[in-house]
Amino acid sequence: MYHYPDISEKIQKTAAEAEQQCLPVFREIEAVSEANQYKVLRSFIDNRVSESDFFASSGYGYNELGREKLERVYADIFHTEDALVRPQISCGTHALYLGLSSLLLPGDQILFLTGKPYDSLEKSIGITPAPGSLSEIGVTYAISDLIDGEYFDLPRIRSLINEKTRIIYIQRSKGYASRKSLSPEAIGEVIRFAKSIKPDMIAFVDNCYGEFTSLTEPTDHGADLCVGSLIKNPGGGLAPIGGYIVGRADLIERCANRLTAPGLGKEVGGSLGVLKQFYQGLSLAPSVTANALKSAVFASFLFEKLGFCASPAFGEAHHCIVEALTLRDPDLVRKFCGAIQGASYVDSYVIPEGYDMPGYSDSVIMASGAFISGSSIELSADGPLREPYTVFFQGGLTYEHGKYALMKAADSICGNLS
Ligand SMILES: *Cc1c(COP(=O)(O)O)cnc(C)c1O
Repeated sequence: MYHYPDISEKIQKTAAEAEQQCLPVFREIEAVSEANQYKVLRSFIDNRVSESDFFASSGYGYNELGREKLERVYADIFHTEDALVRPQISCGTHALYLGLSSLLLPGDQILFLTGKPYDSLEKSIGITPAPGSLSEIGVTYAISDLIDGEYFDLPRIRSLINEKTRIIYIQRSKGYASRKSLSPEAIGEVIRFAKSIKPDMIAFVDNCYGEFTSLTEPTDHGADLCVGSLIKNPGGGLAPIGGYIVGRADLIERCANRLTAPGLGKEVGGSLGVLKQFYQGLSLAPSVTANALKSAVFASFLFEKLGFCASPAFGEAHHCIVEALTLRDPDLVRKFCGAIQGASYVDSYVIPEGYDMPGYSDSVIMASGAFISGSSIELSADGPLREPYTVFFQGGLTYEHGKYALMKAADSICGNLS
């Protein structure tokens, strides 16, 4: 192992051992990446992606062939009828709200099968009141939590489904909650269960952080619609903005009509020169996701070895790129995030501090020194400053970068302990 001049001997020794123990898991991650790489390459070849597809259109963007082809490429990778992949979708939350607001009509109900959704959606749904929320137009919601943070509560799901239930909503990644992330197979099982009760519901999956972590995607297991952000896994670190929705053609049509206007749908929306980054980022995405997964696995071993609790634990399957490390002390959370920030390519000299984010009751500290602002497929860490003082680590476009940053974080924390 390379000898770093700025990391203690103790941590370098533990890290070398950690890496050795991780090698068999890394081989499994590489096998998934290799299969996904082929899947992505195959769809580029089958769709005859060419240099002219990178042409930058503006304005209406009618007949923008590169945009239309990219959407076919996404649809092929996710094995869906259609796709919407646009720079006009600002981020993951926007993509999710776009999907929900396109499909739900007054009187409809969303049933959340994986507990309360990701924090940033609370105002979209109206869990916290906000102008323009879905509850404002008479959409209601019901929530079924995961039992022990892991298993679907089937009796409760059965009892909550009624004639109004239009969408069953599944969040694949734990995000910043203390539950487990889900495999595409587990998502498929609950979709089959719910649809056996009411077949006409739409199975809607928040796929953020999950893309390319498995051999299959939720759309291979019965999801009608899958939604995500291009400044996470599928953008491969190169997409500068954007979101995607893949799924059934009739549902994608509704989403396109909402994104632009009924009658315009997918036909308009110049891509302003980002298509090459969308294509190239997608070509790298399986490998970039594998690097983020390796960093997460390395983190689980290293921090467990240092006496902390990691989730997923070392040896447990990773169904998304997020690694939660419970440090039990606000000072250690600050030190961890400070070390990650200090090991970033951009803004390494900045010291992160806790701040009060809208929608959160506790102050949150974040480390992010990314080329794409806020990109969390790049090296990043977030920690709400509350019990039990857990930091959520994710990303790193290369494993080497993730590993170095984690060693710096371990060093910074252990200097404190010993
Ligand atoms: C990141 C994320 C979102 C929201 O995406 P933004 O791009 O931050 O708006 C939603 N759900 C999950 C699980 C996420 O990880």
